[in-house]
Amino acid sequence: MSPAEVCIFCRIARGELGVSFLYEDDDVVAFKDTAPQAPVHVLVIPRRHIASLDASGPDDDAVLSRVLLAVRDVARTLGVEQAGYRTVLNTGADAGQSVHHLHAHVLAGRHLHWPPG
Ligand code: 5GP
Ligand code: ZN
Repeated sequence: MSPAEVCIFCRIARGELGVSFLYEDDDVVAFKDTAPQAPVHVLVIPRRHIASLDASGPDDDAVLSRVLLAVRDVARTLGVEQAGYRTVLNTGADAGQSVHHLHAHVLAGRHLHWPPG
């Protein structure tokens, strides 16, 4: 089976798991994290399977842009843009990436500490 067939986030993006989208367009979907680390914890992902930021290539420039723009729009839709929010892309083992489909975390709704653990 190809990565896209078994990947949990590909399955969510294809609508196979009945997950509600807070945002969607042709390239990107956004949905709530199942283990929220803040009052607002949303994941923004490309529909197309890209294993990580490091796995992206020249063909992915447009979709990477779309992910970032969707983060901005989701934050505005959720009304957290004034108070602020954090956007995180974990890449690889040291960062703790656990799902190998590129995703941007959007965290908001409480004061977020820095530096992260
Ligand atoms: P990572 O650690 O790879 O940066 O983040 C993966 C995130 O995906 C985690 O915050 C985890 O809670 C979330 N997650 C894992 N599986 C699922 C799932 O099936 N549905 C949703 N909505 N989130 C998931
Ligand atoms: Zn995938």
